[in-house]
Amino acid sequence: MRPAILFSLFTNLTALKGVGARMAGFFLKLCGHDRIIDLLFHLPTGIIDRSYSPSLRHAEKDHVVTLELKIIEYLFSAIVGKPHRIIGTDGSDDVALTYFTAKRDYLEHLYPLGQKVIVSGTLERFGHGWSINHPDYALPPSQKEEIPLYEPTYPLTAGLSRKKIANCLAQILPALPQLPEWHDQALMTREGWSGWQESLRKVHQPDDATSNEKPRERLAYDELLADQLALAIMRRHHKKTKGRSLRNEGKLAAQLIKALPFTLTESQKKAVADIKADMETESRMLRLLQGDVGSGKTVVALLAILHAVESGFQAALMAPTEILARQHAATLSKLLTPLGIEVGLLVGGAKNKARDEILESLANGSLKIAIGTHALFQKDIAFKNLALAVMDEQHRFGVTQRLQLADKGQGVDILVMTATPIPRTLTLTAFGDMDVSRMSEKPAGRKPVDTRLIPMTRLEEVIAGVHRQIQVGAQIYWVCPLVEESEKIDLAAATERATLLRKTFGEDKIGLVHGKLKQAEKDAVMQDFINGKIRVLVATTVIEVGVDVPNASLMIIEHSERFGLAQLHQLRGRVGRGSTKSTCLLLYQTPLGAIAQSRLKMMRETEDGFLIAEEDLRLRGPGEMLGTRQSGLPVFKIANIATDKNLLKIAHDDAKVILAQDPDLTSERGKALRILLYLFEKDAAVKLFRSG
Ligand code: ADP
Ligand code: MG
Repeated sequence: MRPAILFSLFTNLTALKGVGARMAGFFLKLCGHDRIIDLLFHLPTGIIDRSYSPSLRHAEKDHVVTLELKIIEYLFSAIVGKPHRIIGTDGSDDVALTYFTAKRDYLEHLYPLGQKVIVSGTLERFGHGWSINHPDYALPPSQKEEIPLYEPTYPLTAGLSRKKIANCLAQILPALPQLPEWHDQALMTREGWSGWQESLRKVHQPDDATSNEKPRERLAYDELLADQLALAIMRRHHKKTKGRSLRNEGKLAAQLIKALPFTLTESQKKAVADIKADMETESRMLRLLQGDVGSGKTVVALLAILHAVESGFQAALMAPTEILARQHAATLSKLLTPLGIEVGLLVGGAKNKARDEILESLANGSLKIAIGTHALFQKDIAFKNLALAVMDEQHRFGVTQRLQLADKGQGVDILVMTATPIPRTLTLTAFGDMDVSRMSEKPAGRKPVDTRLIPMTRLEEVIAGVHRQIQVGAQIYWVCPLVEESEKIDLAAATERATLLRKTFGEDKIGLVHGKLKQAEKDAVMQDFINGKIRVLVATTVIEVGVDVPNASLMIIEHSERFGLAQLHQLRGRVGRGSTKSTCLLLYQTPLGAIAQSRLKMMRETEDGFLIAEEDLRLRGPGEMLGTRQSGLPVFKIANIATDKNLLKIAHDDAKVILAQDPDLTSERGKALRILLYLFEKDAAVKLFRSG
């Protein structure tokens, strides 16, 4: 349970003066949550220096200035579209305070004629004189203090201003709880960091134009350490329970391999060997199988499953969506039925007879393999002797869920599969200390996907191309991006696209999936596409990760310039799975900026997911790397994995040392570290301590 000392931080922002439910709604949108802590961790991205107060005669243009002015004249405009000007002087020169949208009486009130006013804003040249357009601040000299000399700037959302945020923080910061220091003093000294409270204050209320980098660093380190510590605790918990040594002659595996219509790639063989070796040892397996889309992870998982089964144990395969679970079940049944092995499918919560039967046979051990969604770790599901849990496309599952499935058995081996081509440098944070098998090879016979960049102006040619593809019996993906801010508009665009294609090619040939559909509706459309009933699948959302439709050979992506590179790569990976040559058309809106252009060219030049991921990271930073939703990386609030790489390394080592010296976190520092874990909501990790 969260310690009492943190309660005030986790209360709702409505506890503040001037924040009602409506305002809280804006904060929710901005920070993801609407608690005090969420605003505290919403850090500024820059500082506006308002300390420059020159005399107008010697001022430099295009700087933010703060001036004391005497108001000497009103030049109100009677013509719509022409601005009102208030003329002020500092004695050395005049300046026009220019307003394009403001009411006269408001301005008269703000700038009383003949009085002094403190004004802060950007000073610009206007003809031969000076102008400040829409000053940021205009206050009587008695309220001068209210203008921050060093004003932090924040990412904002409609309804929230810099001033509102500053006002809230002015209430929060003086009332922060006194938390014990969790960092090693030597590290603090070496890095020049101050305490938690002080760092938060300096970040949000900087003392000068450059002073908030160190405090930000400290707060980022807090977050990284909490994350690494939680991962290390989870891993230790996992490794602590002894696994079982599963050995067998590999008869089932040999039978399966013989029946496969292809030979395994060297990468697949190596991965299988790694996994087998893990399963044979007494310690528990915790392995990440990383392989690009289409690299053939499923068959590797199947061989791992057979290893468990032949040893007399059960295995479970968990997929993030129902459609993927069904696809896995179909693939596995087809391959396993000849071997006389059954698989059970568990999706959704619907209680019915079929489900009851599966549950019973899992409990008595007659059913060896269960495939499903998160439905697999529901309370009423018990395994007789689960020995292996495989999780496909893991990034949609949290670490906690991973544990939940593993806890369905004793000393369960865990295999996590991901297609996210995470750069080597980042595997550590995303998955903690897992052993990694990386499959770099594509199955033999795969033809490279022909990738082309095409401006939207050539849409007609594209549609003609679709026509030819339909005629030769191919299937087509057509992706229209969905951008969160304009969800409605984009949905309309996709619907319009589907309508156009329906008119051109006939109603029944076109399917449309988008985020507003219910899961079952989405599944139905996907299923029709998988079965070949639908020829063109128009999608707003990223097409279900991992779905395998070998007959699809054309991928069309509209507004490709809006996607992250890695996302484009994932999409392109949906084609090129069959025997025919595949094409990916990246449609873009002109004009295309230089960076966008080089990004799209990169897509044309390589199909190496890891190379693309590194480049994407370099160009955009990890937050945006894959589009936030699809990202396989943890999304940090404060830290930036690209620029804080060194801190990450330190945190990783720090976490190890901490747990080696104080395994139960019971020392003074250990207790403080528990608070740190709660602060970053790693409650699941703390629960793993017996005394926790
Ligand atoms: P992913 O790694 O994206 O999950 P899959 O396991 O779905 O890839 O495999 C993609 C396709 O490649 C499947 O149709 C599968 O049967 C096929 N495949 C897997 N391994 C090989 C191989 N060694 N040679 C040829 N085809 C293969
Ligand atoms: Mg897959």
